[in-house]
Amino acid sequence: MRILVTGGAGFIGSHLIDRLMAQGHEVICLDNFYTGHKRNILKWMDHPYFELIRHDITEPIRLEVDQVYHLACPASPVHYQFNPVKTVKTNVMGTLNMLGLAKRVKARFLLASTSEVYGDPEIHPQTEEYRGNVNPIGIRSCYDEGKRIAETLAFDYHRQNDVDIRVARIFNTYGPRMLENDGRVVSNLVVQALKNLPMTVYGDGSQTRSFCYVSDLVEGLMRLMNGDQIGPVNLGNPDEYTILELAEAVRNLVNPQAEIKFAPLPQDDPRRRRPDITRAKTWLGWEPTLPLSEGLKLTVEDFRQRLQQPQPTTYS
Ligand code: NAD
Ligand code: UDP
Ligand code: UDP
Repeated sequence: MRILVTGGAGFIGSHLIDRLMAQGHEVICLDNFYTGHKRNILKWMDHPYFELIRHDITEPIRLEVDQVYHLACPASPVHYQFNPVKTVKTNVMGTLNMLGLAKRVKARFLLASTSEVYGDPEIHPQTEEYRGNVNPIGIRSCYDEGKRIAETLAFDYHRQNDVDIRVARIFNTYGPRMLENDGRVVSNLVVQALKNLPMTVYGDGSQTRSFCYVSDLVEGLMRLMNGDQIGPVNLGNPDEYTILELAEAVRNLVNPQAEIKFAPLPQDDPRRRRPDITRAKTWLGWEPTLPLSEGLKLTVEDFRQRLQQPQPTTYS
């Protein structure tokens, strides 16, 4: 098959491309390098089945493909809040363009949505039926509401134009290739501990998240794409930790001397988050396999190597 991966030079997208290439597909990676990097896909650059297109999805583009994995969108609060209007454009105009493309060429279209559509959830754990508690005018809204309208667009193109859609609601995912300055909690804590800097915990650290290792997540995305259910489907690891527990786990693993420093909690920071993955289990036969302790070791090793080496040219 010929498969388009938008946001393919990013963290999850590049791991997905590794799997698709290993399966022998033709892959087109579309990315504007906002938070993605050429080094993530460098190993495929000379491969005859791989093509990289530097393009911003808020502009139309015509390509002929069989499947579209639509991942292009900054995922870290630091990056999606840097230019919130652009984040909305990427989610609205970008998703519209990719759905228009999928409609024209009759490609199957998978949207990488997010647990953020549940906002600061009032039910726990979160099932796909829950409609969420999102602030429409807060600093996270460009992303949360952006992804909600992206889901709406996907379902409307499905009902109105018969586009064959799949919608994944991805929960916090971590692993090798996260940016050193990504701003999300796992990368921040690991980089700080490795550099012997104070580890920043926002608020009192009692808020919770559930962390999924990237290879598990990619397996879930591929099962959803190639299965019969359109979703939405939660994809995430149901093992829930407070942020303070996470910081302590990273500290024990990397640097028992590291200091934990408390900093103000950002506005609208969700109090707790854990996926109910009953749908993923029954529809896709999927559940995460790697516990946090194992995934953290692999992530720490990747950061350790990158921090020791001079960074290659970044092209962004
Ligand atoms: P990432 O920031 O590493 O990757 C996003 C990629 O999209 C980058 O390569 C970036 O350059 C590209 N991009 C951004 N705007 C673009 C535009 N306008 N045109 C073309 N390319 C553009 O993030 P990630 O963690 O790999 O997330 C990938 C997808 O998964 C995102 O849609 C994100 O919302 C979703 N998601 C991720 C998580 C997570 O925990 N990692 C959780 C929920 C949802
Ligand atoms: N689009 C695109 N590539 C394509 C087909 C469409 O980028 O191969 C864009 C198109 O420019 C439009 C959007 O997708 O802005 C929605 O397309 P659709 O055909 O649904 O709507 P229309 O073009 O009729 O407004
Ligand atoms: N967080 C933290 N220290 C950091 C970065 C984040 O304590 O250096 C907290 C953040 O306030 C949130 C949780 O960790 O409660 C997860 O944040 P992240 O940005 O990784 O993801 P999201 O909030 O989008 O789930």
